[in-house]
Amino acid sequence: MKPWEKNIRQVEPYVPGEQPKNGNVVKLNTNENPYPPAPGVEKARLAFSDDSLRLYPDPAASSLTDVLAEYYGLDSDQVFVGVGSDDVLAMAFLTFFNSELPVLFPDITYSFYSVWADLYRIPYERPALDENFRIVKEDYYRPNGGIIFPNPNAPTSLVEPLSFIRDILDHNQESVVIVDEAYIDFGGESAVSLLKEYENLLVVQTFSKSRSMAGMRIGYAMGNSSLIRALNDVKYSYNSYTMNRPSLVMGVEAVKDDAYFRETIQKIIKTREEAKSRLADLGFTCLDSASNFLFATHKRVPAKQIFTELKEEGIFVRYFNSARIDNYLRITVGTPEEMEKLYQALARYQ
Ligand code: PMP
Repeated sequence: MKPWEKNIRQVEPYVPGEQPKNGNVVKLNTNENPYPPAPGVEKARLAFSDDSLRLYPDPAASSLTDVLAEYYGLDSDQVFVGVGSDDVLAMAFLTFFNSELPVLFPDITYSFYSVWADLYRIPYERPALDENFRIVKEDYYRPNGGIIFPNPNAPTSLVEPLSFIRDILDHNQESVVIVDEAYIDFGGESAVSLLKEYENLLVVQTFSKSRSMAGMRIGYAMGNSSLIRALNDVKYSYNSYTMNRPSLVMGVEAVKDDAYFRETIQKIIKTREEAKSRLADLGFTCLDSASNFLFATHKRVPAKQIFTELKEEGIFVRYFNSARIDNYLRITVGTPEEMEKLYQALARYQ
């Protein structure tokens, strides 16, 4: 080892789902939305003037925080935006999780949480989901340095009611509780309504799933103004201009078109519910998804084999080679046409 090598930070990075170079695949592996963003987003893209690119964007990203605040009935100082919710969540770990006590999150959850905790050297513990892949709320009734979980959880797809979130908050008045609502628009009730009552709650959402803008990278956090101020202080100590100009303009347009947003979500929910019964007919058991993906296991054929064989045919789904979930596939809900191709490919395992 060279002397300087001992000072290099050693991290085991998060591995995102594959983005195939060849466009000719049925891509059901990264929970993207199969429909385009709202028409106003494309219009804004075409109208975007290159001339403004020589100027820095608004460091406060006010146009976007204002429109989001209005949409959710909050004040503008209750919203923080970042480069995808990954950026917002990473910033939140850095800002709020500075205790000697462990941060708590489930053993089976978004696998980026342990990566950020390792990166920032935050201690953490991962209470196990129960045998039905449910979060056990009593596991979070103990001293901790913060709590984070997705609702619906990923990759399980299962949602918890607002009463569950409230219970966790009632038992944790001394640490920041972050609810990662990346998938909430597909079937859950947002904890935004609890912000009035709990000043230690941070709700994080994204434009990547329900607003079809994964490629644009926009995420946001909503919370008490003092939490948002703390996030901004960390952000301005790190990078003043996280949000680029095109993202700001197009993000605003996406929020404005609520009718399109709702219609797209309804289409995905309809396809998801069809998929639950079609996959059951094909020998799969799916958890009761409230998300834009299904978590499915086959009665006979190992998940890894199905994953590999589907991939050879140009159908990409997600497989996690980790304890307890290594016989499951996470399948993003695509268009009805894409799902039909999936069912046809799966028919051989029936
Ligand atoms: N949270 C969860 C639970 C997710 O599954 C994802 C998507 N990988 C994210 C956050 C991050 O999404 P994005 O950075 O695209 O907003």
